[in-house]
Amino acid sequence: MTGKGHRLTGIGAGFFAAALVHTLGFNYTAEVFAALAAASSTTLPDWIEIPVHKKGMRAGTLIPHRTITHWPPLWLGLMYFAFYYLEPYYAATLIGISVGAITHILADAPNPMGVPWFWPHKRVSILGGLWRSGQFEKTITAVFTAIGVFYWVQAHRDNAWLMAFIERWG
Ligand SMILES: [Zn+2]
Repeated sequence: MTGKGHRLTGIGAGFFAAALVHTLGFNYTAEVFAALAAASSTTLPDWIEIPVHKKGMRAGTLIPHRTITHWPPLWLGLMYFAFYYLEPYYAATLIGISVGAITHILADAPNPMGVPWFWPHKRVSILGGLWRSGQFEKTITAVFTAIGVFYWVQAHRDNAWLMAFIERWG
């Protein structure tokens, strides 16, 4: 996915992060922190690789591309740590950042190059390289935004919809 595409997924990531911290029991201010943090972190895994420039040209990155910064367990671990050990607003912000980073990884995942799902140094291409960077970007971001908004709306219905569903079909 291109940089622009990654930035566009920030909208969905923002809603998703807000819904997640709501589900985890945080208040509305924390939701705003999480949403802003997530929206601005969907390009994070690429730029913390630290671009190296030689003679004014981009010559690669200090951390090899799509390794540790694209490793889902790192961000999931960060979320876990934030939730259990940090003050609510710091926790919400860090959870938001992690949601943004994971959104980035998911967007990179179907790329032929793949991402390191299990070990930080070993990339796995799932779905055999379903699409290249830049392909289907509009569709993917639209679907992702819809999922984020849907989750957020449902989270704020305080599970009444789920109870109704279970009562009716369960
Ligand atoms: Zn990336």
